[in-house]
Amino acid sequence: MEREEMDEVDEMNEAKSIGIDVGGTFTDIVGFNGDFFHIATLSTAEVISKPEILVDLLDKLQPYRVTFGIAAWVRRGKILRAPNLPDFQKLEELAKFEYRMLNDANCFAFYAAHITGFHNVFAVTLGTGVGSGIVINGELYEGHGLAGEIGHVYAGGSEKCVCGGVGHLETFFSGWKIKEKFGKELDRAELLGYEGFDVLCREVASAIMILDPECVAFGGRISSLLEDGDFRIGIGKYLMPEFEPEFVVIKDPLAVAKGAALLAALRR
Ligand SMILES: [Zn+2]
Repeated sequence: MEREEMDEVDEMNEAKSIGIDVGGTFTDIVGFNGDFFHIATLSTAEVISKPEILVDLLDKLQPYRVTFGIAAWVRRGKILRAPNLPDFQKLEELAKFEYRMLNDANCFAFYAAHITGFHNVFAVTLGTGVGSGIVINGELYEGHGLAGEIGHVYAGGSEKCVCGGVGHLETFFSGWKIKEKFGKELDRAELLGYEGFDVLCREVASAIMILDPECVAFGGRISSLLEDGDFRIGIGKYLMPEFEPEFVVIKDPLAVAKGAALLAALRR
């Protein structure tokens, strides 16, 4: 941790809640005391190999509540599987302090509802994997725990997915698939021209028809390269005209951590 970050930590002892986004590459830590504040961004590889770094940091903060948003399948606070974060087991060493574990897309969905003001939100995260979260009447909807796993719905074909399944949406559109197929990241024009984007739009449209949300929010690294209208046009062609949700791209790399902090503060 940098010296500057340590100083910041000393000033942040007032934190009422802490949200931690454990992403594939970076782990973002955000506090919430009525306002959000960035505490630190660490390397996830470092956090997983040396969890004591995080434990020390949280000890200094003495937060009331900690919530993790992690790219994993989480049921009742327990990580079942993390296809894009294979070393997740090591994080269990963090159990030295009290925390709650949630799916990262669920945290994003809650934050999206908070900043857009909509009570019924379907949120999609486009990063290494594809996740989604659902907010109904202002509350996070988790079903039996795994609700919203749109990245692993069957979208066609028989290509193998990182989860072990075949033909899942992520085999058409995801950060890992794009890297495998093109050997680089795509820019906006390339994303819009890529047939995988159309498959993504079709699957999101199916979810919209089931949920009829007021707002469909997109987050994550890949979403930040696109605009609201790109999704409105791409998805709109698969929707019945009566479905007219607001499409919003939230270009905030700390959105998951903020949602986690908010959920921790509200004990939800
Ligand atoms: Zn899958």
